[in-house]
Amino acid sequence: MSAVAGWIRPWYPAGLVGHISRDCPELLKHVSEPVDGSGWLDPDQAVRCATCMPPWNAECRACHSVMSEEWQEDEPFSEADANRWKRKHRCPPDVHVIPPPRPKTSQTPAGQVLLPLL
Ligand SMILES: [Zn+2]
Ligand SMILES: [Zn+2]
Repeated sequence: MSAVAGWIRPWYPAGLVGHISRDCPELLKHVSEPVDGSGWLDPDQAVRCATCMPPWNAECRACHSVMSEEWQEDEPFSEADANRWKRKHRCPPDVHVIPPPRPKTSQTPAGQVLLPLL
């Protein structure tokens, strides 16, 4: 099986939501005995659990507004949401989209090439 940098394993499915912590309280609400999901969890595609997987964020260095503080919805925001917030932001473009910190995976799969973060 091949994997892409940043994909996560093991992970634990609960309905349509992917969790990365076996002890996540949201996971245990739905599944009493978590089982590993098959394959890898792509954090940019999956419906992520906001409790155990940090969301994307964006901040403006001109006015110090932070997307997560202005966001009105319950859903954890995705990269697309962060880019939308950046486009709509009132200031001249000094907005930086912040990827979620990657949880530590146990090891880099053999043969995987790590791409530099842009
Ligand atoms: Zn979770
Ligand atoms: Zn601003």
